[in-house]
Amino acid sequence: MVSRRILLGALAGMAAPALAFAEGDGPAKPSVLTKKGRRTRSALSHQASDKAALDRAMASVKPMEAEPAHAPAAAHAPAQEVSPEEALGRLKHGNAIFARGGANLMLPTLARVAELSKGQKPFAVVIGCADSRTAPELIFDCNLGELFVVRVAGSTVGREGLGSIVYAVEHLGAPLIVVLGHTKCGAVGAAVDVAKKHSELHGALHEMVLPIIPAVLEADETHPADLQDAAIRRNVRDIAGRLKTADGVLAERIEEGRLKVVSACYDLATGVVSFDA
Ligand SMILES: [Zn+2]
Repeated sequence: MVSRRILLGALAGMAAPALAFAEGDGPAKPSVLTKKGRRTRSALSHQASDKAALDRAMASVKPMEAEPAHAPAAAHAPAQEVSPEEALGRLKHGNAIFARGGANLMLPTLARVAELSKGQKPFAVVIGCADSRTAPELIFDCNLGELFVVRVAGSTVGREGLGSIVYAVEHLGAPLIVVLGHTKCGAVGAAVDVAKKHSELHGALHEMVLPIIPAVLEADETHPADLQDAAIRRNVRDIAGRLKTADGVLAERIEEGRLKVVSACYDLATGVVSFDA
């Protein structure tokens, strides 16, 4: 049996390393290129009576970019300060859209890409599993520049991950951290096998599951019908709890009401994210 003390409190007391990111801190502005292009074409189509003149004029107009069939307000909203509660509401709303099959699947326009090169203002940090079926931008119906995502199998947070989170909160102003697990998580399943069946994993795989084992042991104490599922939920709650005191910047912002840390679980079968807050 693996000791309960293994990596318990692995996050506690860790100081964030000095970070030197290249990204700017300034807010991105909404794009106007597409609207301008459409307006120019519309005007020309009404005013030009000569086809040759129209062709010449059109040659000087930049190509239009495809617009999304529908663009949720959150998807391309100009960057602005949002409260932790507003940020949480956006994620819940985005997931509700995704889970009923109405997600916006259009890629961002090139103009939006160019605007984002000037800076980013993500409204939430999502700590997720590397599982290919759990991409946060998709399941929350978000787009480029909206989520700061840290993903490792099992949704665990090591020292580098913690530094990334602190950066997003302190330098980009993200008001919300979501620790997201998911049903049937293979990394948690592997941790269950190590803890309960004494299975052995080699090298880096072993190191990957070690941080999850305390959650498995805690969940096992409640004798759940499905230990893997209980451990998945216990794991994200534990990580969220430790994050609140893992760094002085995070603790201070929570105290000031400027930051919220919540855990959540994504159901692979239904597309629904259930939040613990
Ligand atoms: Zn997983």
